[in-house]
Amino acid sequence: MDAKYVFVTGGVASSLGKGIIAASLAKLLQSRGYRVTIQKFDPYINIDPGTLNPYEHGECYVTEDGAETDLDLGHYERFLGVHTSQANNVTTGRIYHTVITKEREGAYLGKTVQIVPHITDEIKRRMLLLGKTGDYDIVITEVGGTVGDMESQPFVEAIRQLQWELPEEAVCTIHLTLVPYLAAAGELKTTPTQHSVQMLQHAGVSPDIIVCRSEKELGADIRNKMARFCNVKPGCVIQSIDAPSIYQVPLNMLEEGLDQKVLQCLGVGIYPEANLAKLKDFLCRLYNPQSVVDVAVVGKYVELQDAYKSILESFVHAGAANHCKVKVHYVHSEHLDKGNVEEVLGPMAGILVAPGFGERGLEGKVVAIEYARTHGVPFFGICLGMQMAVVEFARNVLGYADAASTEVHPDTTHPVIDLMEDQKNTTAKGGTMRLGAYDCTLLPGTLAHSIYGQDLIRERHRHRYEFNSEYLAEMEAAGLKASGRNPQTGLVEVIELPEHPFFLATQFHPEYKSTPERPQPIFVAFVAAALKYKKA
Ligand code: GLN
Repeated sequence: MDAKYVFVTGGVASSLGKGIIAASLAKLLQSRGYRVTIQKFDPYINIDPGTLNPYEHGECYVTEDGAETDLDLGHYERFLGVHTSQANNVTTGRIYHTVITKEREGAYLGKTVQIVPHITDEIKRRMLLLGKTGDYDIVITEVGGTVGDMESQPFVEAIRQLQWELPEEAVCTIHLTLVPYLAAAGELKTTPTQHSVQMLQHAGVSPDIIVCRSEKELGADIRNKMARFCNVKPGCVIQSIDAPSIYQVPLNMLEEGLDQKVLQCLGVGIYPEANLAKLKDFLCRLYNPQSVVDVAVVGKYVELQDAYKSILESFVHAGAANHCKVKVHYVHSEHLDKGNVEEVLGPMAGILVAPGFGERGLEGKVVAIEYARTHGVPFFGICLGMQMAVVEFARNVLGYADAASTEVHPDTTHPVIDLMEDQKNTTAKGGTMRLGAYDCTLLPGTLAHSIYGQDLIRERHRHRYEFNSEYLAEMEAAGLKASGRNPQTGLVEVIELPEHPFFLATQFHPEYKSTPERPQPIFVAFVAAALKYKKA
């Protein structure tokens, strides 16, 4: 069949979890045998989130093909277990960039270039792009922001146009809103939803299905009232109650019949049963942990949960795999020093040092790593966390007191972490790091090799600096092992300390590829090591 399109918009408030609803719907459709993908259209002007500070929109998620994308793509991959790509995340900036580049090339033949039709045409082209590959039966498009924002208008207009350009049964629109509970009145309030839907209808889009986030059950009368006032069929008002885990949401949506309503709207009358056995198995382990293990995540963006989203989710997956609950303690690296490290990290059974950029909080990371190394606490460093493990080793084992990364100390006499050769002539900041998946060969007999159980792996990257291999021989002689390297360039991808119970750090970001059904092996092994440490 030709691909069908589902559009998900949001109203009333931001942060209602549109990405989770979109991903849950995708998961249900996939579990019925459909080939599904999800894409996110973000209304901001940045070409991509790669240049954004994590405090703005949380983590920047990196795809296999090296796109720096919105963190919702992480949810899409975790729920579906399939890779997304550059095409799955489009911003207003990217749309305008394409149109303006074409204008400069003379492609518009002297016409006045306008939001309608030129910008909306480019939005529509991209909305249909993945559907045209033939790889998918259903393409779900999530539009970022809330309806009524000035910025999201061209996207809503593009959906309106597609609704009448495509066959009626090729498009289904879902609007996610909030139904607040007013404790003082003891009532659920439907007016914000009605107003939000009216706003959408003003723009020419009448949603087929309304999904309502709420703290309380929506009774039949409230649902009927909303259906009547919002012009949707009875039964097409779906509730999404707060769930104990985001991975519960697909099951809640199945119970509410969201996917069945969508399939009916798309003219599909008969469809296979949903097979969610693996997800249920994961949830069963998640909800019945046999123990709790305390792990520190040392970083500088700890005030914002979303800044380390993929790492946190990886711990949820790895915990379930180990039948335990991983209790993550955020440790602000800026506030960590030799005076308080024992007090802060002493109670932890594992220490993860997070990725990052720049000087702020860097010395605290070195202190955390020294503590883990000298106290035998399981340690896992990611990207900057790995680079700081190399710095710590150079300073405290090799005795090079001023060893550093040239990212922050360009004049150090011991640049153990240095800018990659091909970065030396790069000045532009957007999309110029070493990004996406690269091969890594693991050395037999090492911890890394035993964790993966294979010689060749592929993991994703996002960095400009690397292990300076001029120091490799000296470090190896002193007890550090480069257990993973890029087979083409020799770049050091994994380091470990064979003398330590579990000390491993990676230049790549394993957290991007962890899913509930396929937990990332390093996280699984790290949590297992933390459990063992706790018992001892
Ligand atoms: N700032 C370091 C680099 O650019 C590490 C990046 C990261 O942790 N993602 O190499």
